[in-house]
Amino acid sequence: MAGARGAGGHPVPAEAAVSAPVADLASDGLLDTFPEGRRLVGTQCDQCGRTMIGARVVCSSCGSREVSRVALPATGVLYSFTRLHVGGEGVRPVGYVDLDDGVRTLADIREGKVPLRPDMRVELGVDGDDWFFAPARGE
Ligand SMILES: [Zn+2]
Repeated sequence: MAGARGAGGHPVPAEAAVSAPVADLASDGLLDTFPEGRRLVGTQCDQCGRTMIGARVVCSSCGSREVSRVALPATGVLYSFTRLHVGGEGVRPVGYVDLDDGVRTLADIREGKVPLRPDMRVELGVDGDDWFFAPARGE
């Protein structure tokens, strides 16, 4: 397929895909299978060491293009949460989870037998192609 043409008919380089800063929970493509199991996809900068959520081509901290794809930790801490009341869908708890490597992500939260509270330990759960965090065992 021929690429886009700029002024004078010169080809315009394809724009590199850069992931959004916040995940789209409906179709994020963040879940993948790694040797340690199903995990959220992350990117680690080979220059400054920062870890980010999602597949990225540029480090959002230092701008380096030397980045590596990594599996994010399956456990973390619930930073904050709320319950969305959506017509026809009932109540949908969502929250920010601080993963054990420091990456913060917006996530669906599944409530268990214990009430949700900030700073509680949570772990990644997978249901088909959906992912969520739920209170960790022992909470
Ligand atoms: Zn960096």
